[in-house]
Amino acid sequence: MLTELHLHFHGCIRPLALLDHLARAKYALWDWYEAEMATAYGAVPATRQVVERYRHGDQSATVEFEELFVFGEADAGTFARFQAKANLLWIAARPDDHTKPWSDTDDEVARFAEGIRTSHRQQGVGYAEFRVSADMVAAAHRGGTEGLVERFAISLPRKDPWPEWQRVQELALGPYGSSVTGVDFCANEEGHPPKEKAAFFAAVHDFNAAHPERALAILYHVGESFGDKSLESAVRWVDEAAELGAHRLGHAIALGVDPGLFGTRTRVEPVAERRDQIAYDLRHHDGLRAAGIHVDPLALREELARLDALPSDAPITVEYDHARLDEVRRRQEYAIARVRSTGAVIEVCPTSNRRIAGLTDPAHHPIHRFLSAGLPVVVSSDDPGIFGTTLADELAWVCEHTGGDEDLRRTLLETAWQSRSEVLTGRETP
Ligand SMILES: [Zn+2]
Repeated sequence: MLTELHLHFHGCIRPLALLDHLARAKYALWDWYEAEMATAYGAVPATRQVVERYRHGDQSATVEFEELFVFGEADAGTFARFQAKANLLWIAARPDDHTKPWSDTDDEVARFAEGIRTSHRQQGVGYAEFRVSADMVAAAHRGGTEGLVERFAISLPRKDPWPEWQRVQELALGPYGSSVTGVDFCANEEGHPPKEKAAFFAAVHDFNAAHPERALAILYHVGESFGDKSLESAVRWVDEAAELGAHRLGHAIALGVDPGLFGTRTRVEPVAERRDQIAYDLRHHDGLRAAGIHVDPLALREELARLDALPSDAPITVEYDHARLDEVRRRQEYAIARVRSTGAVIEVCPTSNRRIAGLTDPAHHPIHRFLSAGLPVVVSSDDPGIFGTTLADELAWVCEHTGGDEDLRRTLLETAWQSRSEVLTGRETP
């Protein structure tokens, strides 16, 4: 039996289920979809016409639709391209309000849930954790789940999770509470440093202490996209998320990707990030030095004083030469050891990393360093419907590119089973 721990509910919808949904929709925002596709791809595909043909009984439209929806290797490159294709999940509009999507209404969610269960039964996925909005929890419970265990983490907005928090606690303590086992932070991470979540994470830990039988895991996407900051800051963000008490870290590419991938080029980050990095370096002075990283407290304090004269969003330029890239590698080693000591589990989604994060060369993938450092790693498929992948494919990729055999596959599956949210929070014994 397979355990899938990193799934976004709508990302699990397979092309045929989506095509059926679109064909049944009375109203869809095709103009919006086509404008976004034109921007991302420079051309408008015939998706609207393909759906129309399917609606009129043309079964050949199903194959064409799959091509148009699945975000494949040829599409890879930018998040904008991924989003443009994923928009198809949201263009059908509610009959009573054309400004709202139809795909997260109760009947549609329940229908999609049935399709996802069928797929999981075919794949042998017996345990699945889905990231969903609080609104979807009741509908996602409809229907029979024989042979399957389904759990839900509520995705919260990074900007301000507090308004939803009351609702999440009610859900966790209510009739669906036994299957609501976590909270999740996904979508754009840029501009949302983990440190801003310190008070929120503390509130979740307090809730867990008060309600151990309904404790919630903190699942946190971090270090997946970091073009707006230095490599040092990107590594630090993963370390900080683990230190704050996240139970599982989504992707954490920055923690283990080979820095050589980025080359000897210039990066830019805001003053606020540089300040945080200096504070981190001063705080971890001894540990960093022991890890072979040069830290000069006097120079850092002087730099901090100079930065005080600048606005927090002013850009700071960082130059990378080979020596500095080597140092980033040592910083990663230091942070990996710290993350390991927190017990945080890393969720690795290879296809997603290849196609969204652009990690096309398997040699650069962080999985190598995660495994050699003995970090707990679970493999998952993120959005298997959009990527046209399965958990078996993801596991096979990891084994193939790390030289792992059946033993590694077994270990990864065992780690996944031990890393269920309900186990990490102590609700269940492993
Ligand atoms: Zn994800």
